[in-house]
Amino acid sequence: MTSTADQARSVIAGTPADSADVEAATTAAAEAFASNRATTPTQRAEFLELVAEEIEADKDAIIEAAVAESSLPVGRITGEVGRTTGQLRMFAGVVRQGDHLGVRIDPAMPLREPLPRADIRQRMVPLGPVAVFGASNFPLAFSTAGGDTASALAAGCPVVVKGHPAHPRTGALVAAAVGRAVERAGLHSGTFSFLLAGEGQSGIELGQALVGDPRITAVGFTGSRAGGLALVETAAKRAVPIPVYAEMSSINPVVVLPGALAEADTTAFAEAYVGSLTLGAGQFCTNPGLLFLPAGDAGDAFLAATAEAVKASTGQRMLTPGIAEAYASGTSALRDTEGVSVVASGSEGGDHAPAPIVAEAPVELLTADSAVAHEVFGASGVVVRYDDVDALLPRLADLEGQLTATVHATSADSADAAKLIPVLELKAGRILFNGWPTGVEVGHAMVHGGPFPATSDSRTTSVGSLAIERFQRPVAYQDVPADLLPEAVRDDNPWGLTRRVDGTLER
Ligand code: NAP
Repeated sequence: MTSTADQARSVIAGTPADSADVEAATTAAAEAFASNRATTPTQRAEFLELVAEEIEADKDAIIEAAVAESSLPVGRITGEVGRTTGQLRMFAGVVRQGDHLGVRIDPAMPLREPLPRADIRQRMVPLGPVAVFGASNFPLAFSTAGGDTASALAAGCPVVVKGHPAHPRTGALVAAAVGRAVERAGLHSGTFSFLLAGEGQSGIELGQALVGDPRITAVGFTGSRAGGLALVETAAKRAVPIPVYAEMSSINPVVVLPGALAEADTTAFAEAYVGSLTLGAGQFCTNPGLLFLPAGDAGDAFLAATAEAVKASTGQRMLTPGIAEAYASGTSALRDTEGVSVVASGSEGGDHAPAPIVAEAPVELLTADSAVAHEVFGASGVVVRYDDVDALLPRLADLEGQLTATVHATSADSADAAKLIPVLELKAGRILFNGWPTGVEVGHAMVHGGPFPATSDSRTTSVGSLAIERFQRPVAYQDVPADLLPEAVRDDNPWGLTRRVDGTLER
């Protein structure tokens, strides 16, 4: 391996990465870290903007490759290019403003009684080289130069990407774009590397070698629960354990309250639900897999309208044959569960394009070991009827951790909605009202995270500007001479940062 761009070119030519490449990439990343962490906010922001520019420069080829490899439509992939470059530019803005550095200054109090206080200054520093495992379902925005990579680079961490085998060409083209940006920014070539297992080679071995490598200091992952947990275990068993930020599985409960149901146009409401469930072949981590519906006539009418909408739906080609097979076995486990009845299924759409399905299950089946309570990745939903919200609360409290929880309510439902929020806060990273969870805004207030198994670490998010915090740690400088202090914590505040000085936020 020479430079990122060369390596990406060799990947396009079909040269697979092996364990020597893992070592070369992590060694280069460790070397790059020395200079990466010393870059100014402006240098780092300009680099992120160059990455966005280089992706845009090769946009047509990237879109063509991603559409061919993922079977996702051009419109969706084009949107993902915008999301990817928008995300990079958002982090550039964050780095320029500098509040991610979290600067705090407690000035010395030499005359304080009974003991004087030392001068203590705190800032965040980058962790070091980060391993990123791109997602199969977002070949761009959650992959090679996606949110994990952008936030790690923004923090000042070099990145080694383990490319997803579902979109090797897309990954290599994006890696080449990042490589060009590294060169244009004058950064060390180890700032970014891209590794892909070749045909017949084990991607698992490659990924395990990467996470086990002593130079790697943190991991970003999006994928299956089994894959995420395997990496968490490897990271924990290292001589020096490291954090793994794995986003894994979620069924995203939706609670429809009676007032909302009474006021809704039943057909439109049911179609919106099925639209969210089947969007992108249901291959979203925020897919609404579990819907709580009031018992009674209005609920019956919604279910009948849902059945019509599902019957009218056609399966879309899934990302990989393996994911389509996992959907087939997940839905057959659901069908075979005693007490579960199929409300409706749609039509198959050809190879690896299985039929969407909505099933109904009694609330008693929502136990931890039941197929009803587990993610089936794809267009599969379960409806559970309920009599009253008070009885529903403990069932919600028993659910596993979730990325999202949705409530459909009107003002008539306020009392019930107010009871739901404190329960849902403990279950999910994002609570939304009167919408559908698919579609995650990339912004500053977004949380795309949640308690296990939604993620392996609920204290943070993988979407939005807060994601940068995953790849930093705080350092305090006590009585360090003024001329030796890092710029961020100097008295003259050369970077114009917002800082907490003696407890008060100041600019
Ligand atoms: P995956 O099988 O977990 O793979 C994701 C990445 O991790 C791949 O690069 C894979 O490498 C690597 N990997 C998997 N297991 C590993 C292990 N034990 N050690 C080291 N590396 C490992 O996920 P996927 O291929 O994207 O999709 C499979 C399933 O994941 C889906 O059916 C779905 O259930 C779930 N999924 C969930 C989400 C979500 O957001 N919740 C998103 C996507 C997928 P190789 O493939 O090269 O072996």
